[in-house]
Amino acid sequence: MSQFWSPIVQSLRPYMAGEQPAISGLIKLNTNENPYGPSPKALAAIAAATDDTLRLYPDPSALRLRQAIAARHGLDVGDVFAGNGSDEVLAHVFQGLLNHDAPLLFPDVTYSFYPTYCRLYGIDFRAVPVDENLQVRIADYGQDCGAIILPNPNGPTGIARPLSEIEALIGGHPDRPVVIDEAYVDFGGESAVPLIKKYPNLLVVQTFSKSRGLAGLRVGFAMGQRPLIEALERVKDSFNSYPLNRLALAGAVASWEDEDWFERHRALLMASRERLALELKGLGFVVLESAANFVFARHPGRDGAALALALRSRAILVRHFPAERTRDFLRISIGTDAECDRLVEALREIL
Ligand code: PMP
Repeated sequence: MSQFWSPIVQSLRPYMAGEQPAISGLIKLNTNENPYGPSPKALAAIAAATDDTLRLYPDPSALRLRQAIAARHGLDVGDVFAGNGSDEVLAHVFQGLLNHDAPLLFPDVTYSFYPTYCRLYGIDFRAVPVDENLQVRIADYGQDCGAIILPNPNGPTGIARPLSEIEALIGGHPDRPVVIDEAYVDFGGESAVPLIKKYPNLLVVQTFSKSRGLAGLRVGFAMGQRPLIEALERVKDSFNSYPLNRLALAGAVASWEDEDWFERHRALLMASRERLALELKGLGFVVLESAANFVFARHPGRDGAALALALRSRAILVRHFPAERTRDFLRISIGTDAECDRLVEALREIL
């Protein structure tokens, strides 16, 4: 690489997300998308917003969406920040809130983007080991740190910690930001949002990509007390970026308001998860208890990478994480029951 690049850029490694193939006909259970798609009301709102007003810039404050989110949770609109997917929100969080002189803490088995952000923004971090069951041990976060970020439920394990433990973590570091990434919370986890009024150091990040089936629209948001949210706004405003485009804003508001669709489909998905977990156990898999829209499972004596490849050759995509502690496992997103049945059939052939 050219010597003209900064040392940080020279040390960056490409971020390997799950495969996003252009070809259809694959059963795609590798990036935790929602098999049911978005609410029809969200699609109708996007279609209705597809008109001449697209020549105008969108609302830079995403006010309508922030108002809707704030109203549902009894927060002020100034307690909500919106962005193009929670990845963008998290990027602002890493730049604006987590860049302290002591290391940022997160689990060693977690969302793989965190270390990538740290390298990009030059943030010192320490990956705190999960226990032998891949569980986060809150007691291990008592050490001195600049900030903490923890997904609940965690990825790629799907394991959720009870709110009492999350509260102990937040209360244990009153002068440090504690960020709870709740990308998967709607599938059985306990949200920390009710704690926001009590803890000025708590920031909760959520997304429309999973439980609302809108990964392609790119909408995420953060909730916290005003001073934390203000820091994110400063970062955003320095980019002159628009948090949401006009179509995303219209679709997200309609999706947020369609509570009936949301409740029905998350219940369906959780039922499919339990059904798939049982089937996998029947095939001899060890399946971790998941509160997310995926399961993390290993088959004793079978190589995770080889299983993922064998499934790939049968047109089924799942995710494999080659790191030491996760290499035996497959992360399988919950599809429709028909898709899960195809997966189980394929595994039966392979094993
Ligand atoms: N946080 C976690 C824990 C995730 O797994 C993901 C999705 N890969 C995200 C955040 C980002 O989701 P999005 O940008 O689609 O909102």
